[in-house]
Amino acid sequence: MSSKKKNKDLHPCLVVADDSGNIYDEPDLLMLVRRGEQWGLPRPDELMPLPKESELFLLPGRKAVGYNPETGEAEEVDGLAVAAFAAPGYTLSGHPVYETEEDARMLPLFAYGAVGFAEDRFWICARRVDMDPRQQFSHIRKGLIEKNVRQLLETYPDNRLVAHILTNCVMRYDCPAARNFSLGRYEAPLPSSRTCNARCIGCISSQEQDSPIEVTPQCRLTFTPTPEELVQVMEIHAARETKRPIFSFGQGCEGDPLMNPELLCAAVRLYRERGGAGTVNCNTNASRPEAVEALAKAGLSAMRVSLNSAREELYTRYYRPHGYSFADVRRSIAVGRENGLFICLNLLYFPGITDTEEELRALSDLVGSCGVSMIQWRNLNIDPEYYLELMQDFAHGPSMGLRSFMKRLKKACPWLQYGYFNPYVGAKAEVPAPMPGTWCPPRVEDALQDAPEATEADGENEPGESGGHDEQGDHGQQEGQQNGQQDGQQQGQ
Ligand code: SF4
Repeated sequence: MSSKKKNKDLHPCLVVADDSGNIYDEPDLLMLVRRGEQWGLPRPDELMPLPKESELFLLPGRKAVGYNPETGEAEEVDGLAVAAFAAPGYTLSGHPVYETEEDARMLPLFAYGAVGFAEDRFWICARRVDMDPRQQFSHIRKGLIEKNVRQLLETYPDNRLVAHILTNCVMRYDCPAARNFSLGRYEAPLPSSRTCNARCIGCISSQEQDSPIEVTPQCRLTFTPTPEELVQVMEIHAARETKRPIFSFGQGCEGDPLMNPELLCAAVRLYRERGGAGTVNCNTNASRPEAVEALAKAGLSAMRVSLNSAREELYTRYYRPHGYSFADVRRSIAVGRENGLFICLNLLYFPGITDTEEELRALSDLVGSCGVSMIQWRNLNIDPEYYLELMQDFAHGPSMGLRSFMKRLKKACPWLQYGYFNPYVGAKAEVPAPMPGTWCPPRVEDALQDAPEATEADGENEPGESGGHDEQGDHGQQEGQQNGQQDGQQQGQ
């Protein structure tokens, strides 16, 4: 049964918290959802049980608002608003509704999802976009990560990068990519750059002194590794993850990796010359087309480009590029595709701003014209009101919802793959995206047409459907939690 039919009669109540952090439901008020400037009830097809390994936040200085079905009005209550931080692999389709007090401090850099309560469990507005369990750790034996960290540090005492990944990224930042490196599985991080040529509003490793964002969850790398140090990390990982190793430049603790193209080229070339297999990927702002070409020739397999928007004005307002422009980003993607790279977009999704007609047109054009093979649907980690204020000068049509947006984008660009994590594509990828300049945009009348409603068959074939066996709500999480998990990779890259 599709989630829309299944959830037709589901009406989650508002969830609130008291000052001590106890979370409870308000049975007389219904959960509301915010998409940009719109407030509304959740759509049945976007409700899903709170996934395991998600967290609940209390929102200090923000009063929860619910819908009173008796009066037909939105009603503010005395309790604090509550939000959900969804586990990796899930994209949020709506923010919580609340009223912010005048002296409230800005919310830290996390993603804030609307949450309600019904049938003895929490519900959120989200969609599962990747079935890969890559960042699930609840089944990992207690103490195993710490034990592996000690062993690796003893075995490789002279490699500064090994020490940084294990002591900072694993032990201080809880970075999922670094934890996976310690466990010898999936994707290993390759931080390399101390600097960046962008000044993203939500950068998680560096903020200007006058930034209203008070803390960043990670700190910038304080040294530049040598090619040998990078290759040793790759070889350690490849010896343990023997089936589908992935290595990624561009992590949460660094600037942008394309700032050091010679270093990256030397490391990739050396790794490949020594017979190194697997997918070498670069998470980047893609500001330097010539560096992308050189890296592709050196043996890079894939590139993931981060964007908050495919519209230049919105991109520039958030990224604040120094010495490059959005045209360079487009050119880098096209050059990457021409040189055989599997190009992903790390789309920093924001309900009500991303899922609009304006963005759909711009994004289909970018994907089709430049040769993008995959979209990774990431949540933009930022105080929702701060971002809305930042983007208030631009036109944002009505929100069509995450589900419709994904369907319509795929209709325009049928080769597109969807997910959340960097895919394993081998050393040399098979690239589904068309070569730049060969895409025929759909006719205007087709593109403007709404995509058909989701059917059960669609639901079975798409990773976004709720109701999977691992999506049970966790009623045990009644205690509010203030700490959210940061994804291991920069949201700007
Ligand atoms: S998020 Fe990434 S691209 Fe943006 S400023 Fe930070 S390091 Fe640079």
